[in-house]
Amino acid sequence: MTNTEAAITDIAKRIKDDGVEFIYAMYVEMHGKACAKLVPVNALEGLMTDGAGFAGFASGPMGQDPSSPDMLAIPDPASYTQLPWQPNVAAMQCDPTVLGEPWPYAPRVILRKALAQLAERNLVLKTGVEAEYSLVVLNDDGSISVADERDVGDLPCYDAKGLTRMLPHLTEVSHNMNAMGWGNYANDHEDANGQFEQNWQYADALTTADRLVLFRLMIHTMAERDGRYATFMPKPFTNKTGNGLHAHLSLWSADTDEPLFVGGDNPETTDSKGLGLSELAYQFAGGLIQHAPALVAVACPIVNSYKRMGVGAPDSGATWAPAYAAFGGNNRTQMIRVPEPDRLEVRLGDGAANPYLMFAAMLACGLDGVDNNMDPGEVNTSNLFAATPEEVAARGIETLPPTLLHAAENLKTNKVLAEGLGMTPTGPYSHYFAEQKKKEFMAHHHQVTTGEIRKYLTLF
Ligand SMILES: [Mg+2]
Repeated sequence: MTNTEAAITDIAKRIKDDGVEFIYAMYVEMHGKACAKLVPVNALEGLMTDGAGFAGFASGPMGQDPSSPDMLAIPDPASYTQLPWQPNVAAMQCDPTVLGEPWPYAPRVILRKALAQLAERNLVLKTGVEAEYSLVVLNDDGSISVADERDVGDLPCYDAKGLTRMLPHLTEVSHNMNAMGWGNYANDHEDANGQFEQNWQYADALTTADRLVLFRLMIHTMAERDGRYATFMPKPFTNKTGNGLHAHLSLWSADTDEPLFVGGDNPETTDSKGLGLSELAYQFAGGLIQHAPALVAVACPIVNSYKRMGVGAPDSGATWAPAYAAFGGNNRTQMIRVPEPDRLEVRLGDGAANPYLMFAAMLACGLDGVDNNMDPGEVNTSNLFAATPEEVAARGIETLPPTLLHAAENLKTNKVLAEGLGMTPTGPYSHYFAEQKKKEFMAHHHQVTTGEIRKYLTLF
């Protein structure tokens, strides 16, 4: 029996046991938008063998135009997940191919390739994410409001009453996560009115990225059913805290499944920063800091992302988003926090990040730090939100780029990310990504806004 035949037999059994009628053959495009075809299970064999056909151009930036050949998305059987909120459907994440080859513009293909190269070093990347989102309603004038009208407190973070009012939604999401085997361990009201975060256990990077795609789909589905909108937009409200996607990263031995970012206990190793991490972890952090000005284009990939970042505080008092490429211990005012001596928490990413691309990009930066013995800098213990830009610059800490255009230009010239995100027939994927992001910025920039009219209409 070939691998494909064995996979078909295995999936067919699970489909029967689960009472599943349809498969979502899924992939994401550059923005991380979940795309799917609904395939009846009687067509399973064709789906697993030939894939589901898509006109890639129609879904978003996928390196295709209307004349391009079909993109055939081949399901990864390991990602089979029955959807508890619509149990007659199971999702499988696919690896798109074109003319029989893995398509280098497909984010999942890009991460898979990066992880395969990592495996050649006998290493595995494990990741966890903190996916924040806001529950809102759309007003007749096109503006949005917090869905819970009573959620108006100045410091709504961890508010038990706000949590209680959203209990039906939160418990349903929690039940669903546990039914899918993700291990939900916390659910909280976040720092903005109407903002929530629901956590599940870390896993290998591909699994976590697949789960985030399903998590977002689930949250949107739950909200729509309740007559609301869910948004992962980095900054849905000018004066409220934005939606982050903090990522927890660690490297593990592929052979022994030992965590390699843990230091301290081993007398052979020295702990140069005193945070209990291994030198490998410090070097990895060094690479992330070094390449942060370009990495940010992938981790914070839309115009709106740069309204979340920076020092300016929303109504609740602090932004919680990094303004500087800084590193330290358990300190939330910087880009990399070390909450415990076993992993790095990279606080750069936001709700618009494509998890496949973000993990691949972070991995490339981190490995460059390892290969070139990079130093993440002094362990920052101060409140960087309170420091002046001059004080921060005097300490050799770099300020993160102020707009998507700045970030995209940094990405365009970054060789490590050009290599890390792989080559396409027209050049590095990172260049394709950067050009797309410049176009997005300019399209936004060319819009005349109501704020501009208010400010300038009669000023001169
Ligand atoms: Mg949070």
